[in-house]
Amino acid sequence: MAAVVSVPDRRLASKATILVVEDEADIRDLVRYHLEQEGYAVEDADSGEKALERAATSPPALVVLDLMLPGTDGLEVCRRLRADDALRDVPVIMLTAKGTELDRVLGLELGADDYITKPFSPRELVARVRAVLRRASAAAAPPAHEEDFFRGRLHVNFNTYEVAVDGQPLALSLREFELLKFFVQHPHRVYDRLQLLDLVWGQDVHVEPRTVDVHVRRLRKVIERDDSAPELLLTVRGVGYKFNPDALEP
Ligand code: CA
Repeated sequence: MAAVVSVPDRRLASKATILVVEDEADIRDLVRYHLEQEGYAVEDADSGEKALERAATSPPALVVLDLMLPGTDGLEVCRRLRADDALRDVPVIMLTAKGTELDRVLGLELGADDYITKPFSPRELVARVRAVLRRASAAAAPPAHEEDFFRGRLHVNFNTYEVAVDGQPLALSLREFELLKFFVQHPHRVYDRLQLLDLVWGQDVHVEPRTVDVHVRRLRKVIERDDSAPELLLTVRGVGYKFNPDALEP
């Protein structure tokens, strides 16, 4: 595992996208400003509907979600995120003006990862965002007992770095292996190029997003039955890629 190099400009160090959902423009702008100062990319939405739409198009690394929204409120947004296979693991920090225990309990029961009561200090919010993201990436790491992925014709051994298709060993570069490992451990979920660069290449490595495309093409050549019609590493137009393990079985 590569050591994380400390980068003087924090903008380069963290590029995770945070979706800020808040109907009050001044709070939204305040949160945006402080998150951007910390180097996060920020998208925002002023309604629950827009938030769900945006999250579905491009899953954020984390959602800062106001409880009181017109129309679809924060609890409902949280409930729907948790019901969506592609979004259920996206951490949610709930903002609430109503500091009652009931709201807190409801929020947490619906799967919010943390909550902050208004009025809040932007500094505290940023600290919570950082902590929740750190927890989420630790949770996303594969469990220690998981040694391999074996399904249909594809076998990936995470310990020995061996990959075989139909029992035939493949020669992959280390990065190709890491990318394949990432996909098989995160099936069905769409990742854009920047996310894949962050998650597979690491935040301390600066390479072009099209490097991801090159590696995906190489992987397709060796794992797809027909690399001109991929069924495993799917392109999600305008977004990125996802791994579809279902195509491994007849
Ligand atoms: Ca509100």
